[in-house]
Amino acid sequence: MADAIVADRPMLLDRLEAKPTDSLLALIQLCDADPRAEKIDVGVGVYRDAAGNTPILRCVKAAERILLEGQETKAYLGSAGDTRFVELIKPIVFGDNPSGYIVGVQTPGGCGALRLGAELVHAADRQARMFVGQPTWINHGPLIGCAGVEMIDYPYYDKASGAILFDEMMSALGQTRAGDLLLLHGCCHNPTGADLSLDQWREVAGLVSERGLVPYVDIAYQGLGNGLEADAAGTRLVVEAAEQAIIAQSCDKNFGLYRERTGSLFVKTLSSRTAEAVFGNLLSLARTMWSMPPDHGAAVVRTVLEEDALRADWRSELDDMCTRIRAIRARMAAFDPRLAFVNDQNGMFSMLPLTKGQVLELRADHGIYMADSGRFNVVGLSDDNVDRFAAAVTEKMDG
Ligand code: PMP
Repeated sequence: MADAIVADRPMLLDRLEAKPTDSLLALIQLCDADPRAEKIDVGVGVYRDAAGNTPILRCVKAAERILLEGQETKAYLGSAGDTRFVELIKPIVFGDNPSGYIVGVQTPGGCGALRLGAELVHAADRQARMFVGQPTWINHGPLIGCAGVEMIDYPYYDKASGAILFDEMMSALGQTRAGDLLLLHGCCHNPTGADLSLDQWREVAGLVSERGLVPYVDIAYQGLGNGLEADAAGTRLVVEAAEQAIIAQSCDKNFGLYRERTGSLFVKTLSSRTAEAVFGNLLSLARTMWSMPPDHGAAVVRTVLEEDALRADWRSELDDMCTRIRAIRARMAAFDPRLAFVNDQNGMFSMLPLTKGQVLELRADHGIYMADSGRFNVVGLSDDNVDRFAAAVTEKMDG
């Protein structure tokens, strides 16, 4: 009898379909296997220094030493995570005097924040819709859509010209209704590097307040574009203009903590009663996913931000990363006027006007490894290969 039941249907896990491997991870493997000494890896999603390393920041090492010596317990912290960490991050994102009530919890990285925010939205409204500029970070769809939030595309960036499609974007957002969410990249847009100007942010803020939209801001690279304050300016404008807003923040890039999964989710409302309900819902949703976020990264960030000398060192290390990014961008732009757009963009990524075929040719002919979309990481380059990279790319752009 038992045999017959087994024979009728495949065993539980045999019913799963195979999944394609992550394309960027596959790219890393291809690059590693390439024996050419002059190969260039611009596919990676992390910061690299001029020597090609992703070092642990000095301030992080120092904080880790303090924690190693001083931490006295590993007892649970609770679903909100390290609340002092959240308190210290808040003014970095929102400035000193944001209006309304802003509640926040620690999350496992920006990914955890994006997912938790989406779950909150879905819990509040099963019919919630989020407007998403295209192209966007490849994981936004899986992280937000998977919570059940409907995602509606709007045009954002024209790869051929390297320009933001602002008029098209604003006209598409004319379709929004009160309560719709608007996904925005706080700074250092991934994958394009193309950020709204402050004037454009002001217009978006106007639209948010006029139509009663709820900004859903992903700010994962604060400090890596034009400095900590400048990189938060757009986010602050739309959050101020909004009655309600959701902000997913990450420390994984600006503290170089990647694998420590360090981030936070903030929610702004205008009523203390709603803020309290939001906070309670965040805790109960977090309990169903990760129960409590991992502690170490947030403890490191808290330790750095609480200590003046460490905080100053962090600012200077962050400025160094930012300066290197800006220098590579400037050098590419100076190489050929057709690459001028790269210097107007921010953060680690830009997107080249190349077809997938051209990207594959660059890989085969020059050992240049970038994502199929033409997205490349500027800090995969250094002084000794940036011109070679720019020459190969512009030659391809010639056709
Ligand atoms: N948002 C964007 C736009 C990102 O590029 C990333 C990471 N690549 C994240 C969020 C998530 O960052 P984390 O590693 O902190 O989860």
